[in-house]
Amino acid sequence: MSEADIRVLLIEDNPLHARMLQGFLDEIHAPSFPVKHVDNLAAGLDLASREKFDVVLLDLVLPDSKGLDTFVRWRTHAPHVPVVVLTGLDDMGLATRAVESGAQDYLLKSQINAALLSRSLRYAVERVRARSEEWDSPMFRNAHQQFLKAAQVVDLDDNIRQRLLFPQRTQVLSLPFRRDGYDQVETVFGYRVQHVLTMGPTKGGVRFHHSVSLGEVAALAMWMTWKCALMGLPYGGAKGGVRVDPTGLSRREKQRLTRRYTSEIIHVIGPDKDIPAPDLGTGAQEMAWMMDTYSEQVGHTVPEVVTGKPVVLGGSVGRETATGKGVVLMVQEAADHLDLDLDGATAVIQGFGNVGSAAAEFLDQLGTKILAVSDVSGGLYNDNGLPIADLLEHARSGGLVQDYPEGDNISNAELLELECDVLVPAAIENQITAENADRINCKIVAEGANGPTTTEADEILNDRGIFIVPDILANAGGVTVSYFEWVQGTQNYMWTLEEINSRLKRIMTRAFHQVLQRSIDQDLDMRTASLVQGIERVTDAKLIRGLFP
Ligand code: GLU
Repeated sequence: MSEADIRVLLIEDNPLHARMLQGFLDEIHAPSFPVKHVDNLAAGLDLASREKFDVVLLDLVLPDSKGLDTFVRWRTHAPHVPVVVLTGLDDMGLATRAVESGAQDYLLKSQINAALLSRSLRYAVERVRARSEEWDSPMFRNAHQQFLKAAQVVDLDDNIRQRLLFPQRTQVLSLPFRRDGYDQVETVFGYRVQHVLTMGPTKGGVRFHHSVSLGEVAALAMWMTWKCALMGLPYGGAKGGVRVDPTGLSRREKQRLTRRYTSEIIHVIGPDKDIPAPDLGTGAQEMAWMMDTYSEQVGHTVPEVVTGKPVVLGGSVGRETATGKGVVLMVQEAADHLDLDLDGATAVIQGFGNVGSAAAEFLDQLGTKILAVSDVSGGLYNDNGLPIADLLEHARSGGLVQDYPEGDNISNAELLELECDVLVPAAIENQITAENADRINCKIVAEGANGPTTTEADEILNDRGIFIVPDILANAGGVTVSYFEWVQGTQNYMWTLEEINSRLKRIMTRAFHQVLQRSIDQDLDMRTASLVQGIERVTDAKLIRGLFP
């Protein structure tokens, strides 16, 4: 089962209706709706006390309960599970009363089809999440914990501390876009968050992912602030996102959604205001659509409004692989510091997307043996080292990692615990936690993803002497080459790949040594040292600019 799947409990006593609904649910994918069916309320309540469901499809007229009472009894026993009520034409009044009493939606049995059902269930889940979890995401908690720890170390001015905890500007959108079936309009949540406006324009990617929330985007924007400050780039942090599973969208749907998202945030972005870039679930194509939409609105072509564009539209050479390149530059510095020869060393990489695949390629070129990689399908392990060039070909032509023949299939969890010299978590957040930190078996963790390690896990890894290159340092290659792209765009002057790579190396290596020195001088772990470095720069800028009015 994938994380995006929505677990449905169907409580319906009419076998014909139950079969029809199950049939519809089986038809739908991305997300899938694994469903359990019972035919009376007592059995439903019993099942819900033992298993977790995301939503319940509830017939109000059941053998052991009738009318609004059915809904009330459900609510009393399982208040957190959203309810979609099933109703016949003659029970409409009842369904409306259930919605007034807190049910998320009702569906007329005679009019249900797969699309309608899918949408109603998804929205029920979304609405409940939107209300309860907007700010309160695990990532935001993680970002706050890290920040507060670093703030304590630098004895940060309390006024500044309060100002930096939450983003300066947030925009929450509800975005409609047409599905390929013309009549079907989807409405999804979108966000653009600008954390600090003090340093220059704000900068940060846009992610399309089913778990995006305001808290998650705010955490990512905050990390962008520290990352840009650490690299000395003239930006504050921003981030954007749309809560949608892009793997379930056609290319045309993605284009309409991207354009609508851009036009909704058009007043807060711009080359001097806020410059989006790719992130999880978006790439050069989405940036081209964003740039085109923005340009159409202002009446002339503005390539500098986004970075990570295709090269033909003013993108920078080297941007696509820059994050992976940066990860490997940082691994090289860390290995040097630890006296580890990367030629012949071993590495494990979680994630084989934009960051993970480029990191694998560059490490492979250094002679490091890549023991395992993974993608959404799971992990692939080969004790002799995976043939990375060929595996990249396989992935580029749409193949899944686990379908590649030369290796054994392992789970993502197993992959993280493999013995190796270098572990690169380059997938999503919250992967190294208090639960598995004891079993992580490497010398260096280089965080290609944002927020892959929780605060509790951080302490365990540090105590065990594992050298961590934290996300805001390890994955800063992306935004650094984005900065180069923006500079080239504003000057209408293009640099060569050699120039890009040598400037990238200079900036990142300098940052690494500043952080390492600070961590030694002040006896700090590498993450706290990186954060302190970034926070100090932002604090200095805030204090010297003063407060308006
Ligand atoms: N999304 C990338 C990051 O998290 C790149 C952001 C950018 O290039 O602006 O750093």
